[in-house]
Amino acid sequence: MKNILLIYTGGTIGMIQKNNSLNPFDFDNLKNAIPEIKDCGSDVQHISLEKPIDSSNMNIKNWVSLSNCIYNHYDQYDGFVILHGSDTMAYTASMLSFMFENVNKAIILTGSQLPIGIKRSDAKENLITSIEIASNGIINEVCVYFEYQLFRGNRVVKVNADNFDAFKSPNYPILAQAGVKIKYQKQYISTGSNKKLKLFSEISNDVAILKTFPSINKNFVKSVLNSSKGIILESFGSGNATTEKWFLEELESAINNGKIIINVSQCLSGSVRQGDYHTSLLLKKIGVISGSDMTTEAALTKLMHLLGQKYSNDKIKKEITFNLRGEITI
Ligand code: ASP
Repeated sequence: MKNILLIYTGGTIGMIQKNNSLNPFDFDNLKNAIPEIKDCGSDVQHISLEKPIDSSNMNIKNWVSLSNCIYNHYDQYDGFVILHGSDTMAYTASMLSFMFENVNKAIILTGSQLPIGIKRSDAKENLITSIEIASNGIINEVCVYFEYQLFRGNRVVKVNADNFDAFKSPNYPILAQAGVKIKYQKQYISTGSNKKLKLFSEISNDVAILKTFPSINKNFVKSVLNSSKGIILESFGSGNATTEKWFLEELESAINNGKIIINVSQCLSGSVRQGDYHTSLLLKKIGVISGSDMTTEAALTKLMHLLGQKYSNDKIKKEITFNLRGEITI
């Protein structure tokens, strides 16, 4: 029998209605509603983060406790299932993928769109199937399981606030589809590593996102550039932005002053290709780094991770373009 550690962080899955809104509740609420956990074929132990949260409150401190919890129990368990709110699940999945190197077990995040206590809830299926996937020894990476699909964690985006299929992996195939049987697409799944698991707990939040829009104003651009060392530039299409002189000058002087700017697309699918258009070639010329087909969540958490290691700017700029954990297509 496989040993699985179920880590409860909060999220809708365990919430109850209080004062007319949904609030995180303790693990017992969840356990009592899913008696199947006891006889799902695996030995499932559980642990809760200090205080269950709505994942909108997720932060570096929580990421560090969560990763420590996995790290400290890594040898005792065959796989891990993390119950997490869907709102920031894509960020946490990406962050964990960078915090851990040499993963050779399943670390699966799941949650639900409706609380477990509600009859039509998607919680039971998401949880029981995640446990089954974590138990079968095929997965060696951080994943998200939601509504019959298993995704690479650093490739997912939350795309729907209403439907059960809340996540998509626009630039990477799904890893498995759960139907009558769970069909794995082994060619897309990480092969794992037999080296010792390594945890990187240093994370920096000296980062910002600069989303471009037509007629963007200088004060806004200046204040975002001033605010942080690492900036994710969310550009148009395949990496394009306005060629107004002041815009390029602001970006160029920020880069010359030691800021790191990474170009990702506002489009859900596809890739940044700096140079296809004159409007992106100019960004490349001033030193903006292409984020290729990374999601904003992956680019942001990768930058938080790299800045946290206190690497030189040159090293960070190189690593951004490398494929560290399957987050980018080279
Ligand atoms: N606000 C909730 C959370 O992210 C939504 C959810 O769990 O689906 O914690």
